[in-house]
Amino acid sequence: MYKWIWENYRGIQYITIPHWLEQGIDIGFSSRHTGASHHPFHSLNMGLHVGDNPISVIRNRHEFMSVFGIGLEQVVCCQQVHGSSVAYVNRQQAGRGAEDYETVLPGIDAMVTNTPGIMLAAFYADCIPVFFFDPIKSAVAIAHSGWKGTMDKIVLNTLQTMVEEFGSDIVDIEVFLGPGIGPCCFQIQPDLSEKVSKVFPEFDGIMDRNREIYWDLRLTNINILIEAGIKPDKIIDCGICTSCRTDLFYSHRREKGRTGRMMAAIGLRIPR
Ligand SMILES: [Zn+2]
Repeated sequence: MYKWIWENYRGIQYITIPHWLEQGIDIGFSSRHTGASHHPFHSLNMGLHVGDNPISVIRNRHEFMSVFGIGLEQVVCCQQVHGSSVAYVNRQQAGRGAEDYETVLPGIDAMVTNTPGIMLAAFYADCIPVFFFDPIKSAVAIAHSGWKGTMDKIVLNTLQTMVEEFGSDIVDIEVFLGPGIGPCCFQIQPDLSEKVSKVFPEFDGIMDRNREIYWDLRLTNINILIEAGIKPDKIIDCGICTSCRTDLFYSHRREKGRTGRMMAAIGLRIPR
């Protein structure tokens, strides 16, 4: 069983997975600690599209990538439109969206790669970051699974892309769910609840509490993954709620939309 840990590099606190690092994967999920951004983006804001000073954001991204010895010219970012489209990424896309929002991969919410030296990066403040690693085919992926992405089963599209592009066998794939909004805080309205139950009749992850409706997005994503053939013991869920922990993370809901973004980053290290 592999596990996640907190790591600290020159004051930058981030989450990583030792078992993946040992196998040549660079993986990290940033917190909001340290960094160049000011209120309400304090301080390690990674989002270029939220109204923060781009110079601060680029400095923050540079700082976080220095943990892995990665330059921004190696990073690839996608538009994140709460859709379910997946892009295969190689050296041709290197640097897209890393220093300006205009060059992101348009219309994309998940990326897969098997090219060493390419860092896939996506940005979050409540949506669920889902990381994938196939140790047999040496391939990785990242998906942005908010409530819309969950409804459209973006994690399933990501797995299918890994199968098509790399010949991955789903039973080999390991998955990590990073910090995102939890069932403690993700209250939804009855009309959405009905839609969710229609898409996931067997298992919707919806729960009633004090006559209010809450949705466990992680549980729904985990169920989609297990139904697709991922082994339950290869899924690790950090279980942290971003809305409960605004001391550590940005939360779009808790901070009413005026906040920064964390970065989820994953890539294959170039062998030294
Ligand atoms: Zn919470």
